[in-house]
Amino acid sequence: MTGTVQAPMREPLQRRLARLAARTIRTRTAQARPHAPLVSFTFDDIPDSAAERGAAILEEAGGSGTFYVAGSLVGAVEPTRRLASRDQCRDLHRRGHEIGCHTFSHRAVSELGRATLANDIAKNAGFLGEIDPGIALVNFAYPFNTTSLRAKRQLEAHYASCRGGVPGINAGRIDLGFLRAVELADACIDAETARSWIARAVEARGWLVFFSHGISERPEPWGCHPDLLRAAVSEARRQGAAIVTMRDALRQVFAGDRALAS
Ligand SMILES: [Zn+2]
Repeated sequence: MTGTVQAPMREPLQRRLARLAARTIRTRTAQARPHAPLVSFTFDDIPDSAAERGAAILEEAGGSGTFYVAGSLVGAVEPTRRLASRDQCRDLHRRGHEIGCHTFSHRAVSELGRATLANDIAKNAGFLGEIDPGIALVNFAYPFNTTSLRAKRQLEAHYASCRGGVPGINAGRIDLGFLRAVELADACIDAETARSWIARAVEARGWLVFFSHGISERPEPWGCHPDLLRAAVSEARRQGAAIVTMRDALRQVFAGDRALAS
């Protein structure tokens, strides 16, 4: 009886430890040496309001964003949001924004076995490649910002970067398998806090990644008001940070290394 009583208690603890290990054990490190501080604005899932309002706000400032798409959500209508359509995904790509991978199924990767996860990300690549053959999924964001060490190792070997949701600045020796990112959502941040995160990135000459979902006057709980996104974008500009996609940020993160090597 003791075993059956203890087993359910052990499992959550093991899961918590596994999640903690995945986010703290650095498995794919690299030295970040951008010539200038960088700020990336990223959107997960992605709601149609991110594809429309979010992209437009970045474009007004001369920037581009990274939109992490899960194929199974494309065109979906949920109680609190409508997800971007195929046409909106294609349009984002053609306007110079980056389309990233967020799995096809939008399930926690820690719950998918190796083969299932490999099939899932291949399915997402095929799905988005059908929308536009020019879409190449180079960067990844973990659904629910969670992973396991096993899934992390598998995904970081496949993508140029994998983004989590633990707040922080990517500076110095960074973990490309679990990049730090600050949630830009009305529920957890205001314009002043966003400004201070940008200031920290500028001071460290690092790379700050924001992530959000829908962008509207009445966002879902994990989305943000256009004014908050606009404030963060203009503050990044004002403080002299470059607003770049994840793809372009990675080029610049290692630009200093190449300069040193040449
Ligand atoms: Zn998601």
